[in-house]
Amino acid sequence: MSFTLAIVGRPNVGKSTLFNRLVGKRLALVDDQPGVTRDLREGAGRLGDLRFIVVDSAGLEIAEDDSLQGRMRRLTERAVDEADVCLFVIDARVGVTAADEYFADILRKRAKHVILAANKAEGRAGEAGAMEAYALGLGEPLRISAEHGEGMDDLYRALLPLAEQFEAQNVQQAPETDVAVEDGDEDEDWRPSPQKPLQIAVIGRPNAGKSTLINKILGEDRLLTGPEAGITRDSISVSTNFMGTPVRIFDTAGMRKKARVTDKVEKLSVADGLRAVRFAEVVVVLLDVGIPFEQQDLRIADFAETEGRAVVVAANKWDLEEDKPEKLKELREAFERLLPQLKGAPLVTVSARTGKGLDRLHNAILKAHEVWNRRIPTARLNQWLSAMTEAHPPPAPGGRRIRLRYITQVKTRPPAFVVMATHTDKLPDSYQRYLVNGLRADFDMPGTPIRLTFRDQG
Ligand code: GDP
Ligand code: GDP
Repeated sequence: MSFTLAIVGRPNVGKSTLFNRLVGKRLALVDDQPGVTRDLREGAGRLGDLRFIVVDSAGLEIAEDDSLQGRMRRLTERAVDEADVCLFVIDARVGVTAADEYFADILRKRAKHVILAANKAEGRAGEAGAMEAYALGLGEPLRISAEHGEGMDDLYRALLPLAEQFEAQNVQQAPETDVAVEDGDEDEDWRPSPQKPLQIAVIGRPNAGKSTLINKILGEDRLLTGPEAGITRDSISVSTNFMGTPVRIFDTAGMRKKARVTDKVEKLSVADGLRAVRFAEVVVVLLDVGIPFEQQDLRIADFAETEGRAVVVAANKWDLEEDKPEKLKELREAFERLLPQLKGAPLVTVSARTGKGLDRLHNAILKAHEVWNRRIPTARLNQWLSAMTEAHPPPAPGGRRIRLRYITQVKTRPPAFVVMATHTDKLPDSYQRYLVNGLRADFDMPGTPIRLTFRDQG
């Protein structure tokens, strides 16, 4: 057990749910002492390869002879004092409440390390609440869903440098450890490693060549061939080294490779594709150049964008094309017309059969992943915003000019920005697009969704 993690927050934000998720079946309840209300629960927690003790202060709403507030304070202080890391949970759907501020205050004063988590943020719920949490001054809020298990990879990444630091301290290493934690945002290590392979989903219509591609990447026929369609519906994943990059590939096709394609199978494979997208960091939309941009490809590509995944489009069976330049032009035009929401996403041509173009695909995936994780310093963003508004000032509906005062990046994976502004409800969509396109072009961010929201300052 390397360290102790305390889950802290006001009642009903989802602490117990998160505790149960981290502890799983290994729950070890601290026995009630006679006459003492059970308060802090402990369990052996686990997240990826990390092992720790989790302490849950969820019992604290059972106030007895004490005032609720007094009891909450004492228990929280105890949990905070005993913990190496505090995971401070708020409810993203509710936003920041006075009680949250109360806890934040205790944490700022006493906690050694705080990770802020905005819970109940499954899908795109609670975006505003998560943004609000920024104001607590406890760093970037992780958007998680304890109930649905979302955001656990971000939590892992937030814990990892701390875990390494504690490990180093435990073995009495030299005091100068190079794992900086104060400035976690910039040092957050998202680069693929054998412990954290880059997660890729290869999606596309049946017969696009997904299995062939994955087999080529694996360099051996490791994909299962076998069960008929409708029997095994799970996506499968394989880990390998793709041209020097540790990757984990989610494949949805291999299992029913030989199945006859019926309507039912088409539907199933869409559902599997959606599941794979949720797992992936980078989604490779594999097209058959003979039948590019099928309805099904478009749906899943759109879903990948909505889910905030980095996207690379790969046109397969390129070996069959005679007039390659002409075909490429055609593909680019169709791409722009049919998937405007993925503007700038890389389009590469490959032949899964011969292996030609796999280096291009590899580079495009790495680049998309890098962009997806990119963080732009606030100073540069604000210089950029001034230049943008000077070049093309926002409109002045009813004679009152909309002022865009300040921009900051609040999140990566994908990059998300907030602009503080006046009269944001009057800001035309076209101006928002101008800003998003500008961000994409000026900071070289192809292939990733960019989120831009506005906060009204009256
Ligand atoms: P605690 O009092 O902080 O320990 O909160 P609980 O874990 O008991 O959760 C309070 C309520 O929020 C319960 O109804 C949970 O089912 C719900 N909840 C917890 N996590 C999530 C989540 O990620 N999403 C949603 N929608 N509800 C959640
Ligand atoms: P999946 O259903 O998407 O997994 O597609 P498969 O990998 O099973 O491929 C479907 C068919 O396309 C098979 O007959 C493959 O041999 C063929 N195929 C896959 N990739 C290529 C390629 O790059 N070039 C050519 N000519 N055929 C390919």
